Amino acid sequence: MANTRHVPERSCVSCAQKFPKPDLIRIVKTLEGVVTVDISTKSAGRGAYLCHTPSCWQRGIEKGGLERSLKVEISTHDKSWLMDFYTKEILRSPE
Ligand SMILES: [Zn+2]
Repeated sequence: MANTRHVPERSCVSCAQKFPKPDLIRIVKTLEGVVTVDISTKSAGRGAYLCHTPSCWQRGIEKGGLERSLKVEISTHDKSWLMDFYTKEILRSPE
C-alpha cells in the first residue's frame, strides 16, 4: 500500500465544501460561551469551520450559518470582531 495518509476533512459552514481540516479556520464557542477564532484548533467547546473564501465569512457571520452551527447567538460586536480578524489575520496571509 502506498502512502495514503488520512487527512480528516471538515465542511465549511457556508459553502458546505469539504476541505482537509488544516485548510479550514475553526471558530469555537468555548465552554464559557465565548465565540472566538480557534487558532490552535484544539480549544474545548463546540467548533465550526470556515474556508478561506471572503464570501463564506461574510455569509457565515452575517446570515447566521455560523450561529446555527455553534448554536449560539453572536453579538454584533463579536461579528465585527470576527470579520476584522479574518481581514487582518487570514486574508492577508495567502499561504
Ligand atoms: Zn466556504
